[in-house]
Amino acid sequence: MHMNVKDGDLVLEIGSGNNPNPRSDVLCDRYLRDNRERAGGFSIVIDRPFVVCDGYRLPFADKAFDYVICSHVFEHMDDPIAFAREVTRVAKAGSIEVPSAISERVFGRGFHHWYGELDKGILAFTRKREGEQFSGFFHRMIARSIWFRRFFEDHENVFYLRTEWNDRSPMSIIRKSVQPAWTVALDRRIDRLLAKAKPEFLADLQFYFQWMARRLEKKIKKEIRRFLWGQGAAFPFEKLRCIVCHERVYRGGDVLKCTYCGKEYKMDGVIPILL
Ligand SMILES: [Zn+2]
Repeated sequence: MHMNVKDGDLVLEIGSGNNPNPRSDVLCDRYLRDNRERAGGFSIVIDRPFVVCDGYRLPFADKAFDYVICSHVFEHMDDPIAFAREVTRVAKAGSIEVPSAISERVFGRGFHHWYGELDKGILAFTRKREGEQFSGFFHRMIARSIWFRRFFEDHENVFYLRTEWNDRSPMSIIRKSVQPAWTVALDRRIDRLLAKAKPEFLADLQFYFQWMARRLEKKIKKEIRRFLWGQGAAFPFEKLRCIVCHERVYRGGDVLKCTYCGKEYKMDGVIPILL
């Protein structure tokens, strides 16, 4: 995903889950051990400063970050508009990635609430009515056939919507209501798209080697980061704010305490839990 992040920018990632962006400085997620809403049920990755918090009540001061990454989170939120308000409160700019409506029909998850569309910079969400469609089948196709994975990556911009916001072009999110003809037209587009998915020996072979090289590089970088974090980097506690009154919290033994309203927050090892 292209991001307008400058070298010295402080970057927050919300809902980093099992696949944090390499550029993120601080990670947060709602769930530490519950993987039910993570693709493939993968465990969370904690390899840099990490906070457990709720997307609707982020424990940070207004504009505390230069940039916020929010990848595949909005579709999990019951109220994306309220979530958007909170995301834009804590950062000056950011990027959003969500599955497209097409992706949601093909690869949809029962725990995603929305069909996303992006039109002229406006992200529109339509509440999903149906549960999963054929997602189990298509997830197995991706996992087991290299030609289907190549097809997916060749059309990634159809499956994933990406948009960036800042003070010049603010985040714009709306809710749409369902029209019956809309899903019919959507499924026709999916039909035409899936017709392009077919094996091609040479292209698949070439893709396979590139894909394996990318995976290896990613794995090595991940292990290096995990090792360095394991050496005991300091958590930037000064960044944290009470979710009730937005004042500073201080560490006293195994808890964090807000000096203004007195609310106490637990820690799970080195991980602050600001819920
Ligand atoms: Zn407080």
